Amino acid sequence: MNICTKCGATPVIISRKASGQMLCKECFIQSITDKVMKGIRRNKLIEKGDKVAVALSGGKDSVIVLDILNSLYKRNVIDLIAIIIDEGIEGYREHGIQIAVKNAQRMGIKHRVASIKDYFGKTLDEIMADDRREHGACTYCGVFRRWIINKIAREEGATKIATGHNLDDETQAILMNYLEGNIDNLTRIGAKSEPKSDKFTVKIKPLREIPEKEVGLYAVASELDVHFDECPYSQESFRGEVGRFIKELSVNHPTIMYSTLKGFDKIKPALKKEFAEKKVGIGTCIKCGEPASHEMCRACLFSKKIHQKE
Ligand code: SF4
Ligand code: ZN
Repeated sequence: MNICTKCGATPVIISRKASGQMLCKECFIQSITDKVMKGIRRNKLIEKGDKVAVALSGGKDSVIVLDILNSLYKRNVIDLIAIIIDEGIEGYREHGIQIAVKNAQRMGIKHRVASIKDYFGKTLDEIMADDRREHGACTYCGVFRRWIINKIAREEGATKIATGHNLDDETQAILMNYLEGNIDNLTRIGAKSEPKSDKFTVKIKPLREIPEKEVGLYAVASELDVHFDECPYSQESFRGEVGRFIKELSVNHPTIMYSTLKGFDKIKPALKKEFAEKKVGIGTCIKCGEPASHEMCRACLFSKKIHQKE
């Protein structure tokens, strides 16, 4: 029978192919918490006194971010707030919101729920129902969600926005932007954002080095109430295709996601030096007053287009 390589206990709940480590439930939970905290310190993601706004969907990733940061909140190291976005995806989002609210309430953390429809007049489903639309669901969703979260975070005086991006998400973003030749986007991938305007709150990714399946296992092992359903639009995207490709490769090459991330972090300073300085300056959107690199921000531009066609 396998025993935990850390404490000798049984049963073992994970056997890590990449490192050969086998861990029992307690040692596994501890190993994730330690790794996240180490990443937070190494990348200076959080400082004492920060007010962190967690973008909470109710899915495993963001609930775990809230759960781990809650330990810092309980020790009065940071203040915490949860921002929950209702994109308007029928049959999927309602359940996620319920779980998100329940988790925030259980931890005694203030939360705010805001919908894309309230701010931009249509749900994501309504936007997608129009076949003259110009983009895929994730593009509208991402642009509107980021706009709302940034606005609420600023209203709440948050100094950081924490998102649930895990190792799989980050590796997908690296490969996807590379395959699309999107070098400018590549220069912005990292554990902590470097905003071009002080109207943008710094974004941090505490789970960046944790593989998705370990995030799922952590949720189960810690008995957290999370939403495991997948968004109905997720498979449509190019990101979904890239994700499936990386997962297939990982079967025979279990360290491939770590090496992609580590390799990328090494070349990023050179990429930034070569490409990031050529960026245009950041101004203010003439419609909403949020930061924009053109006359109008992307959210207002999208909003104008989805209503223009009526
Ligand atoms: Fe939005 Fe796409 Fe994520 Fe669904 S998969 S919640 S549409 S970004
Ligand atoms: Zn705008």
